[in-house]
Amino acid sequence: MPQYQQIPQKHNVVPPQKDNVSDRIRMLMKLRTAGITDMDVLSAMENIPRDLFVEDAFMEHAYDDTALPIPSGQTISQPTVVAWMTWALELETRMRVLEIGTGSGYQTAILSKLARRVYTIERHRDLLDMAEERFRHLNLTNIVTKRGDGSKGWKEVGLFDRIIVTAAAGEIPAVLLDQLSPGGIMVIPVGNSVADQILLRVQKAENGTISTQHLMNVRFVPLVQD
Ligand code: SAH
Repeated sequence: MPQYQQIPQKHNVVPPQKDNVSDRIRMLMKLRTAGITDMDVLSAMENIPRDLFVEDAFMEHAYDDTALPIPSGQTISQPTVVAWMTWALELETRMRVLEIGTGSGYQTAILSKLARRVYTIERHRDLLDMAEERFRHLNLTNIVTKRGDGSKGWKEVGLFDRIIVTAAAGEIPAVLLDQLSPGGIMVIPVGNSVADQILLRVQKAENGTISTQHLMNVRFVPLVQD
């Protein structure tokens, strides 16, 4: 009998897959009840197992509609908020997306199902390492990661058709607006305190004119600028 050696993993981030079909259906029902009707967004969220992105201690809540703690004092976003933000981006499969705040990588994985390429920046190395391992496990090959201060954008790669920021800024960083293509859309939570954060949808017209729309009240961790 051949001896099979277990391949050691750098990080133990891939929990055993349990039968979570009913949990997943419950989450999808919740998204529909919340008003998410876009089939592409729903199908992306059906295809990405959220339990893979959640810490062991919170596994039984993996499909609840709540944000949950992840290492480094950060949070994985609430499924309905992920769905609204993704929908608000109006993604097309040819698009290049910049994401600021990889965190667990859950939102990144959803985006990767709907866009051509996702560039994602995270300031915490440990979170980025874990997210990268999840992307490999799910065979998501169209994600490019970087550790750094995402509020500066990624000018070597820009312009971007879409930009999504998953941490709250005091105001929209001008550098990010510069890296948004004409005709582009950015979704970003803005507000100085957690109590008064609003999610903005920012559109750049072909002639460069900026217009903003309030989507909803949200609670995100702060965008920390180095
Ligand atoms: N979308 C993520 C949410 C993560 S929370 C998820 O679903 O898991 C927001 C993340 O933004 C945190 O991981 C935090 O470390 C990161 N962050 C905050 N400021 C940042 C900055 N200036 N550049 C890059 N990442 C930042």
